[in-house]
Amino acid sequence: MTAVDIVYRYAAHDISAKPMPFDSSAALLRLNNGNRGFSALLDHINDDTGVIQQIIPVDPRDLGLTSDGARSVKQRPFAAVLGCSDARVPIELIFNEGPNDLFVVRVAGNGLGIDVLGSVKYAIENLGGTLKLVVVLGHSGCGALTAAVDIFLNPSKYLALAAKHGLRSILDRALLVVHASANKLMAMFGPDAAQRPGYRQALIEASIATNAALAAYSMQQELVSGGLTELRVAYGVYIIETREVWAPRRTDFDGVGLAVVPRDPSGFGDLGDAIARSARIASFLSS
Ligand SMILES: [Zn+2]
Repeated sequence: MTAVDIVYRYAAHDISAKPMPFDSSAALLRLNNGNRGFSALLDHINDDTGVIQQIIPVDPRDLGLTSDGARSVKQRPFAAVLGCSDARVPIELIFNEGPNDLFVVRVAGNGLGIDVLGSVKYAIENLGGTLKLVVVLGHSGCGALTAAVDIFLNPSKYLALAAKHGLRSILDRALLVVHASANKLMAMFGPDAAQRPGYRQALIEASIATNAALAAYSMQQELVSGGLTELRVAYGVYIIETREVWAPRRTDFDGVGLAVVPRDPSGFGDLGDAIARSARIASFLSS
C-alpha cells in the first residue's frame, strides 16, 4: 500500500511555477494534464512504493499573504468551471489546481439556470484578462440526473415533487435531456433497448454526458451571440470510479479529457451520437 500526499506548497520565492495559459487551447491542455496527473497519482495507491508526493505550488499572495502589507491580489482565474455540488467532485483537487486558478460555480446537476449563467457571465466580463476557457463538468452517478431518469421511467414519482419548487426546476430541465437521451439510445440500440437490465444505468450515464454537453453548447452560443468568439467552452464527465474525465467527441467516442464543444447545431448532433456510440454506454446495456 502506498501513501499519496497531495501538498499545497506556499513558498514565497517560488511563485512562477505555473505560467498563465495564453488561450483556450493552452487552458484546456493545462486542465487535462492536471486531471491526468491527479488520476495517475492515485492509481499508485495499491502499489508498494511507500510514499508518493505531489506538490501543487501556490502563490502565497493569492491568499493575502503579502510581506509588505500591500493590497490583496486580484482575482485571476484562467478558467471558469460549472460543476455539480456533489461532495465527491472537488473541482480544484481533481484538476491539480489551487487558489485563484479556477472560477467555480457549483449547483446540483450542473444545469445552466439563470443565476448560474449570471455568475459565469460575470467572470467572462470582468476577468477577461486571464480567463481563457469555460468548462461544464458533469460526473458519473449524478443524483440530479438519476432522479430525472427515475421520473422519466416512472412519471407518477413526479407527484412527490409537487410542493418542492426548487427541486422541480432542476429536474424539469434535466427531464428534457433524459428524453433526448432515451431517443438516442433507442435509435442506436433498437426499440428493445429499454427492456435490457442495464438500461436505467445507461440512460443515467448518457443523460449526464448529454446534460453537460448541452449546457456547454448553450454557453458557447451565448458567447458567440455576445461577440466573444475567441473564448471556447469545453465539457466533460468526471468518472468517480477512475478519477478521469470522459468526453465523447465526434472523432473519439471514449475520449479522455475535456473536449471543446462544437459551435454549430449539426456538430452538436454528432456529439449526441458519439455519446450513444461510446463503449462506456454500451457496457451498461450489455450487462
Ligand atoms: Zn451531481
